[in-house]
Amino acid sequence: MVQKRIVILGSGESGTGAAVLAALQNFDVFVSDKSSIEEKYKNTLKEYNIQYEENQHSLELILNADEIIKSPGIPDTVPIINKLKELNIPIISEIEFAARYTQAVKICITGSNGKTTTAMLTYHILQKAGLNVGLAGNVGKSFAYQVATRDYDYYVIEISSFQLDNMYQFKSELSILLNITPDHLDRYDYKFQNYVDSKFRILQNTSNKETFIYCSDDETIIKEINKRNITTTQFEFSQTKKNIENGAHLNNTENEINFIFNNKQQMTMQIEDLAIKGKHNVYNSMAAGIIAQCLNIRKSIIRESLIDFRNVAHRLESVISVHGIKFINDSKATNVNSAWYALETVNSQIIWIAGGVDKGNDYSILTDLIKTKVKAIVCLGKDNTALHKAFGDIVPEIIDTNSMLEAVKTAYYLGKKDDTVLLSPACASFDLFDNYEDRGNQFKLAVRTL
Ligand code: ADP
Repeated sequence: MVQKRIVILGSGESGTGAAVLAALQNFDVFVSDKSSIEEKYKNTLKEYNIQYEENQHSLELILNADEIIKSPGIPDTVPIINKLKELNIPIISEIEFAARYTQAVKICITGSNGKTTTAMLTYHILQKAGLNVGLAGNVGKSFAYQVATRDYDYYVIEISSFQLDNMYQFKSELSILLNITPDHLDRYDYKFQNYVDSKFRILQNTSNKETFIYCSDDETIIKEINKRNITTTQFEFSQTKKNIENGAHLNNTENEINFIFNNKQQMTMQIEDLAIKGKHNVYNSMAAGIIAQCLNIRKSIIRESLIDFRNVAHRLESVISVHGIKFINDSKATNVNSAWYALETVNSQIIWIAGGVDKGNDYSILTDLIKTKVKAIVCLGKDNTALHKAFGDIVPEIIDTNSMLEAVKTAYYLGKKDDTVLLSPACASFDLFDNYEDRGNQFKLAVRTL
């Protein structure tokens, strides 16, 4: 039999994982990366005897592929992808590929914000319940690597729109759609609808045997559901609706989550008992609670897990207080919507550290919060024009800085007892930092020098 050739473009976590799985499935595997490959991934490729190249794409070794697995980081418009499309060579994502080789129940979490938090929280509950479960997404090992080396019965998978774009046969047993707000529009022809369509690919191939859990306070999601003929079994979560049949909502006093299945109350949970704070985390906790109940996990375990979960770093992470000024690291807020939730959650006057690489941000949704809560903005980006334009007239103080240390010192100097210094940039970090983790770590280091 002729061996099928699989070429993997991009050798980060997902590409390397896909390569290992393809090698173990006896394909003829080749990995090509336009940049340099991290040492740890090179070692893995060598360990499995996988051929690779870095800092180049050799056409003669790529265009003879039967199938391509593309890293989600590679845009659809680069020359190599155009060439492959001309030749009609199928291009899939690592998630699509790996799903072919596992029988596991896949719990797939997507949305513009909250994927990692909700995936980690769900994983925490499932683990506590003793299920044989893997976590795949932003944290830890890729889905493909886990399928290759140690398959599980359940996977909690965080799925981005870029991965969904190259998924076709994949079927998610439990699909969770947290929210849809403009993000990554540069990859979607600046058309919001294209991005919305991409997110709804999470439901492809599903029927009433599968489950769809979504936020019904999100107007975009509701509009889209009304447009489509969705047969997947639905559960909603809402903080505004008083009556729901299946899912989760708040009771009348708004301090308790009610979980309701078939019009019957299943379980309640006090908001003040939740481990993760803020309106957005109430949504995330509702979503995880519904997933767990769909999997028939005991209520006592769900409750305990929602209380003792420890959130991942860089998401509304309290650092320390210095002379009564609280410092919060929300470096992962790389778009306007996530910064909105951070500003909404903080209950004091705020000195807001913001800015970075602006992805075509519309800051207008922040105006009310900025007017009522923000006493000063410390801009931390190479180009802060957009922030000045949006808020120059409504905030008493708006100051440009060039490094994290300078930003933190400036914010500290502007703060008074009981204020909060909030790093929630609403922008990507690549102008001044390696990534959002680097930005958050530098923030924490700078705060500790005060
Ligand atoms: P993702 O994996 O989708 O990027 P994260 O869980 O890493 O999401 O959170 C990213 C940012 O979005 C953080 O700043 C966090 O505080 C904020 N956030 C988390 N959940 C939500 C939500 N449900 N809606 C809006 N913002 C959220």
